[in-house]
Amino acid sequence: MDRDCLAPMLMMSTLMMLALPGTVACRAPKAPAKPEPLHVVGDIEARRAQFVSIRVPVTIGHLSAGDQQALQHLVKAARVIDQIFSRQAWAGNAELAPRVEVLDTPGAVATRAYFRIMAGPWDRVKELAPFIGTAPHPPGAGFYPEDMTKAEFDAHLAAHPADRAAFTSSLTVIRRQEGKLVAVPYSVEYKDLLAQAATELRAAAAATGNASLKKFLTLRSDAFSSDDYFASDMAWMDLDSPIEVVIGPYETYEDGLFGAKAAFESFVCVAQPEDSERLARFKQELPFLESRLPIPAAYRNTTRGKESPIRVADEVITAGDARRGVQTLAFNLPNDERVREAKGSKKVLLKNMMRAKFDAILKPIARQALASDDVAAVDFDAYFNFVLFHEMSHGLGPGRIRVAGRDTEVRKELKELYSAIEEAKADVLGVFDLAVLANKGVVDVGIVKVLPATYLAGLFRTARFGASDAHGLGVVIQTNWMLKHKAIRVAPDGTFSPVLENFGKAIKSLATELLTIEARGDYARAQKLVGTYGTVPPAMAATIAKLDTIPVDIDPEFEADTWR
Ligand code: ZN
Repeated sequence: MDRDCLAPMLMMSTLMMLALPGTVACRAPKAPAKPEPLHVVGDIEARRAQFVSIRVPVTIGHLSAGDQQALQHLVKAARVIDQIFSRQAWAGNAELAPRVEVLDTPGAVATRAYFRIMAGPWDRVKELAPFIGTAPHPPGAGFYPEDMTKAEFDAHLAAHPADRAAFTSSLTVIRRQEGKLVAVPYSVEYKDLLAQAATELRAAAAATGNASLKKFLTLRSDAFSSDDYFASDMAWMDLDSPIEVVIGPYETYEDGLFGAKAAFESFVCVAQPEDSERLARFKQELPFLESRLPIPAAYRNTTRGKESPIRVADEVITAGDARRGVQTLAFNLPNDERVREAKGSKKVLLKNMMRAKFDAILKPIARQALASDDVAAVDFDAYFNFVLFHEMSHGLGPGRIRVAGRDTEVRKELKELYSAIEEAKADVLGVFDLAVLANKGVVDVGIVKVLPATYLAGLFRTARFGASDAHGLGVVIQTNWMLKHKAIRVAPDGTFSPVLENFGKAIKSLATELLTIEARGDYARAQKLVGTYGTVPPAMAATIAKLDTIPVDIDPEFEADTWR
């Protein structure tokens, strides 16, 4: 299971053979050790039950015959992404997976399901504690040698400054070859699998009649062998197709060591044009919203591209980083700041996923965590708009910045804290923006009344994932801030309520704090914020403990899982 542990043992037996020829140890080499039986935590059934299996329906009948055929190929490409991500999550998954597959203990079915959901033996909703075996989670996942420390990485760069670009690239893995650290491009590390995925993308490109989809798929299939995703990211921004597809290396959350390496993921979706058109009018408000950010004008980002298309889509299938653990409700891509400055970023809201989670999780959470008077205020429209504006807010505020005369990016300056700060910023600005637009008459003013309770229920939904996840840490920061600023109150029975008269002020002050950290690329101030506000408050922990019977998330079942 742990290949790195075998190395010293092999070395020792070699030494023994040299030093002691003719000993028993040498004459009768042991047969390959039979792997130890897998140790699985006793509560595996309960853990698996936290993820309620639910069908996520999608309609594809309105697509052309060519697009339906393209969809078949995209689903196959997505399955390849699952294999790549499995390796990125942990190098040992390849050895462990077949052992989990043949497990015949009483909890075997649950163990297999949980291993699939977590993409490895560590529990992503229990701060990455192992549920199979006892080995701690390697912070660098499968991107770095497991025994490599930050100090060793930094020492290497100090000694080999020319390696910096390759080592810190989001598109390389770090390996140890003959004792030396080397950077290996994704196109080399995952060559065979990427070739398979590229073949499916080209087949899909040939099948579709949509020129923009054809162009994106062709360029993306090229990127798999060149590691240059710029042209295909630009083409993805121009995609105007009923099929909405993401496939490639994007988010860097999986890399807990430096937050640098991008994990492969795929979302294969069918766009709902009527919803997208209804929402697209909000994009016209982005420059206005940037101008209303609660920070000095000098910190505002006025150079970013203005085009930020919003789409609503239903998932056909997801894969890799997009399918592990807790399911995403929406995404905002690409992450390449060059593309974002040229074209903005595209937000895709996953409506069938959102509806499934609202019914299965958010409403039941509200009934437990909120005072009974506030439960009715938790409604789907407010939730949908909050998620929409969370995503829009990722495109607002500082991106590329200057720190001490250097041109840099917020992401690089805030390092491993970036994701948590950025997610908290997006949540807080999501609420702030909706209030600004309600005030302007763009959004129905009624949302101001129901949003605080809906937002509060959402905080509990996310806080249950623990503070090890960027989103989880982000909401813990928000909750502590709101408690301290008396924007949330806890009743004697432990239920939470928003305090409407303080709510807007607290949201605004936290937005100012987060945006200031980003504008200055102030890592020390980010550390201070996390240090002060990053621990789950006792009242919240007590309420979270009461949410045991509510599913943590859903385990989506797509009809496309059965396509062959
Ligand atoms: Zn986000």
